[in-house]
Formats: sequence, C-alpha cells, structure tokens
Amino acid sequence: MKRYYLDANAHAPLLPEAAEAYVVALRAAVGNPSSTHTEGRAARAILDQARDSVAALLGARSGEIIFTSGGTESCNLGVLGLALAAPASRRHLICSAVEHHAVLHACEHLRQHHGFSISILPVDNCGRCSLDALKSLAGEQTALVSVMSANNEVGTRQPVAEIGELCRSRGILFHTDAVQCVGREPVLVHNLACDALSASGHKFGSVPGTGFLWLKSGVALAPVTVGGAQENQRRAGTENAAAAASLATALELSLNQHQAPDRARMHDQIENLWQRVAQSVPSVIRNGHPEQRLDNTLSICVPGASSEDVMIAADLEGLSLSSGSACMVGSALPSHVLLAMGLGRELASCAIRFSLSRELEEDEVSEVVARFARVITRVKG
Ligand code: PLP
Repeated sequence: MKRYYLDANAHAPLLPEAAEAYVVALRAAVGNPSSTHTEGRAARAILDQARDSVAALLGARSGEIIFTSGGTESCNLGVLGLALAAPASRRHLICSAVEHHAVLHACEHLRQHHGFSISILPVDNCGRCSLDALKSLAGEQTALVSVMSANNEVGTRQPVAEIGELCRSRGILFHTDAVQCVGREPVLVHNLACDALSASGHKFGSVPGTGFLWLKSGVALAPVTVGGAQENQRRAGTENAAAAASLATALELSLNQHQAPDRARMHDQIENLWQRVAQSVPSVIRNGHPEQRLDNTLSICVPGASSEDVMIAADLEGLSLSSGSACMVGSALPSHVLLAMGLGRELASCAIRFSLSRELEEDEVSEVVARFARVITRVKG
C-alpha cells in the first residue's frame, strides 16, 4: 500500500541535494571552523559560503545570519536575546496566544527568572491578532513583541508588516517566528520591518538540527549560550558547517521550487482536499483563516472523533497525519491554538492537520480522501 506523508509542517521530506550537500561538506569540513590551520579554514570557508548564500536569498547581510540547531533554538535566542539586551526600563513583553511553545516558554522563562511581565495578544476565531489590541498593550515599558508569521497548526498568517511598523513607531523590538514560511515562499527580511526572524531547516528539506536567526544589523542581542566567540559573539559553540551547507542548499532549491505557480497549485490542492473531505465526512469543521493562511495547510475538526484515535487509524490506512503540533505529542492537552481561537475543549481535541509537501500528485487527492473517510467511519464506529 502506498503511504501518503501529509505532515510537512512537522518535518518536510529531505531533499536529496540537501543530503548530498551535507555529506560532501562533512567530508570536506574536517577541521573546526575556529581553527587557523588548513583544515579549520576549509570548514570556515564552507560555513561562510553557506552564510553568504542564505543571506543573499533573504535579501540580508551575511553578518545578520546566526546559525542555530533549529527553529526552537532560534526562537529562544530571538526572544531571550533581544529582551535581555533591551534597556532596563523596558521589562514588558507581548506575544500572541497562538505562538509555538518555543516562543511562549521563552517568554515565561523571562517572567519567572528575569522579572519581565507578559501580555498575551488575543486572536479572533480565525486565529488572527488584532492591531488595535496590540496598540493598546504596547507601551513605553514594552521591550519586545513576538508574533509568528504563520501558524503551524491552522496556517493562519499574521499581519506582520503592520505589527512591525507599529513596533518601530514606538521603539519596540519585533521578533517573528517565520519557521513555517521561510523556504516555502519568498521572504525578504527588510520588507517586514522586524528586528529578528526565526527559521528552521528541516521545514524546507534540509537535514534536521539546522536553523538560523536573522538579526538586523545594529540590533543588540544577549547571547544565550556562553563559552565561545562563535557567530560573532552571539551563539557560543562549535559551528556545524555541514548542517549549514545543507540548509543553504535546501533553501535555494526550495525557493526555486516554490515559485508562485507551484504555490498556487498547492493552494488549489488544499481547496480540493477540503471540498472532498467536506462532502465525505459529515459535520466536519474547518479551522483557520479563509484567505490569510499557508497554501499547504488544512486543519479540521471532526466532532466525536478524537485526534489520537484518528491519527492511529489513519496511520494504519497509510496516511501520516498530525493533530496539530508534533511538539505536543504525548500531551493529553488540547491545542492552545484552537482554545485561543474559541473552540471548546471537546472540539479542540478532535483536530486533524493535513500539511502538504510538493510530493502529493493531483490525482492522489481522491485516494487520500477515500482513506480518510474510511478512517472516520471506523473511529466513529
Ligand atoms: N516555530 C514553529 C511555528 C514551528 O512550527 C516549529 C516546529 O514545528 C518550531 C518553531 C520549532 O522548530 P524546530 O522543530 O526546528 O525546533
């Protein structure tokens, strides 16, 4: 039986070229990039080349790219690093209610251990923050606003350009978690009016354990790891040059692949999937914003069919699905994103997310829907 992998928001399929770039760089980068001997300089050259290439693809400067071990570390570094470097008179943070835990827990850490207060920006029933709410929360003591570019569970995009302008006009730093956008669509950092942006390589076909923080030139950042001068004093620890090479290759390739016609194709595929699911599964509900959303994401709730039961039965039918966030697997709690959007706990515990990569063919959508309808019939029994 052919399996359908429909969980790209958790982990995108590894691009063969990115795997190859990793292996080639691993063999070539035999020294420590901080060493001055020939082997060290070879590793440094690979790292520098990867940094230049990532920066060019984002319209950034090379020195603005800080390589990390992934999206979580990047979000931690963005939130903790910016907040702790802000003036002592600014000890207030704002983040949206639908942020990934990489941001939410970093804010909570600042509250518990560094005396910050936090305001949570509410979202409407489509998962979108209101600018008016932000205007009333953002004050002279606010150090940092962190709002994601698009949500990993329901796909809703946030008005990041407007949020950035508002923050800038009030002298507040702005970090955006763009983990679900970078590598899927063109992201030009200077268009966003933000100070820092997080990305994760394994969401766009790199080997896992790669990511970066883009930090605007001149913005102060307190390091979170200490013990070395790497990444221009902003992230201590020996750099993984091979992982950076894989990330740079994956970013270039996926941006070439995800051109506008391709994204339109994926958008149509998701709409087709939704139309067919709505016809075959009684009382199914769609979550997220009708227009302002990721092209590849469909989040639904099937009342009476718990996410866990559906995922297990779907796996047996050859469908790899998710309830929303892979980071919450093993947790019995319903999604904080769906609760923030106003869903009841019972309905929120019936969420299923389809997140497509480029691998699904047009004529395979009906097969996916037929299997999914069988799964629901079995689960509801
Ligand atoms: N932020 C968002 C929006 C995500 O979707 C994820 C992972 O799913 C992360 C952060 C964490 O990224 P990583 O898995 O690379 O640590």
